[in-house]
Amino acid sequence: MNPKKDLEPTLKHVALENGTEAPFSGKYFKETARGTYNCAVCANPLFASDTKFETKIPGLMGWPSFDDAISGSIELRPDDSDGMQRTEVVCKNCKAHLGHVFDDKSETKTGKHYCINSVCLNLEKDNA
Ligand SMILES: [Zn+2]
Repeated sequence: MNPKKDLEPTLKHVALENGTEAPFSGKYFKETARGTYNCAVCANPLFASDTKFETKIPGLMGWPSFDDAISGSIELRPDDSDGMQRTEVVCKNCKAHLGHVFDDKSETKTGKHYCINSVCLNLEKDNA
């Protein structure tokens, strides 16, 4: 069975074709519930909710922001598409495209700002 075959169209476009969901369109950019954000393709745990924050940087608003990833969960790749030099974030397990990471010393403790597409994430909420 190939789990990548039956992805819904937006996820397929973003995760497999390095697309970007429209800002403010995703389900998690305002999410504040506690839990773990898993890869929407393979369920690999990627980000913890306590690393999530709401950015005030124009251009990065409208997508979920994190200042750290779960250790060993992601891979970084240089990306010079769209006339920009960026660093792509992919799931280490299934290589799905997740978003990009930027240097950000103004908003994050880590200096890293992960700008991730909601559609690539599944929030597994902690039990209250
Ligand atoms: Zn994955």
